[in-house]
Amino acid sequence: MSTTLETTALVIRNASVLDVDAGTYSTADVVSVDGKISSVGPDAEAPSGARVIDGARVIDGTGKFVIPGLIDAHVHVVASSADFRSLTYTPASYVYAQTARIMGEMLRRGFTTVRDLSGADFGLAQAQEEGLLEGPKIHFCGHALSQTGGHGDMRLPGEDHDPNGRGCCGIGRVADGVDAVRAAARDEIRKGAHHIKIMASGGVSSPTDRIDSTQYSMEEMRAAVEEAEAANRYVAAHAYTARAINRALEAGVRSIEHGNLLDDESLRLFLEKDAFLVPTLVTYWALKEEGKEFGLTEEMWAKVDSVLTSGLEAISRAHQAGVKMAFGSDLLGGMHRHQNEQFRLLGKVQPAIDAIRSATTTAALLLEREGELGVVAPGADADMLVLDADPVADISVLADISEHLEYLIQNGRVIS
Ligand SMILES: [Zn+2]
Repeated sequence: MSTTLETTALVIRNASVLDVDAGTYSTADVVSVDGKISSVGPDAEAPSGARVIDGARVIDGTGKFVIPGLIDAHVHVVASSADFRSLTYTPASYVYAQTARIMGEMLRRGFTTVRDLSGADFGLAQAQEEGLLEGPKIHFCGHALSQTGGHGDMRLPGEDHDPNGRGCCGIGRVADGVDAVRAAARDEIRKGAHHIKIMASGGVSSPTDRIDSTQYSMEEMRAAVEEAEAANRYVAAHAYTARAINRALEAGVRSIEHGNLLDDESLRLFLEKDAFLVPTLVTYWALKEEGKEFGLTEEMWAKVDSVLTSGLEAISRAHQAGVKMAFGSDLLGGMHRHQNEQFRLLGKVQPAIDAIRSATTTAALLLEREGELGVVAPGADADMLVLDADPVADISVLADISEHLEYLIQNGRVIS
């Protein structure tokens, strides 16, 4: 009897279920038991030993489309302002109240898992896992590693205080030299990081670096890669220019974040090293639209334009070359609501099914959760979207998801 009480089941009947790899639908029932998909197929039933029928919730999927829960492979859940510097003097209590809202909204846009590229920590991931916070499951890196004056150093030119230990909620930590980089990487891994993030080029939201600068020496990047690999983790690198991208790939990083200005050599290295590109175009689209309104300074706004135009072209070239690409949004502040607009941008340069793969199977591969996330298949987490229209036929179904999402299911639980 206790099995019946403790077991929860969800059955979706007679839906069009997407096989993401094949890019095709089949009419099937999907059964999940205790948060995992147990069977997919015609007349699928719960496993006989599970005794779940009493507690089953049944959804009629007739005429509906079932796809895996989406994965956004580049977010900052703590970024309630586009001005990262402000996080270093905002109380943790306020940051986390905003974060709870941001996470809840991401989930309701269909993202059942996210990969956080700095800011989120063990506590947030644990709170989500325990159900204290409603939101996507989080793969986090903790603080991003940055050189002095790099993309993770938020001090203004007139400031001479220690770069670390000021405030609680910054996105970066400064570590210079091989030993300090090793220690910082080990410390983030100690605190549960799923991956290590390094800043390998300049960026938009940092006050003193140039977009076209390279950051970290080869020795420092290799040290981070070595420490990550020793712990069976990997390194993600923030990089815009071909020069920065190619150095980071040579040093052994597994994913390039942004990558707007990649070149032919980058494409060759991506394939040779079996690395991932996580392009984040929507953030530039949104920054141009409304960045100033949400705290971006005039100077930062001016940097945006230089990385926007090349972005679509880079994705198109990478797609044609066969580079593995994962969906990333990287939105900040009040711009988070444009998260799904990235699908519409991707749809301009690749088929809809490839845009969907980037937010499901390919992202799961990057997260090293292949078969567990990003698929509707036995053994996977029961993360599913039930849609009233076919996103493979029209990617705007995912871009305008609030108009099409009938049921949002995370770990076998109907969220909405
Ligand atoms: Zn980012």
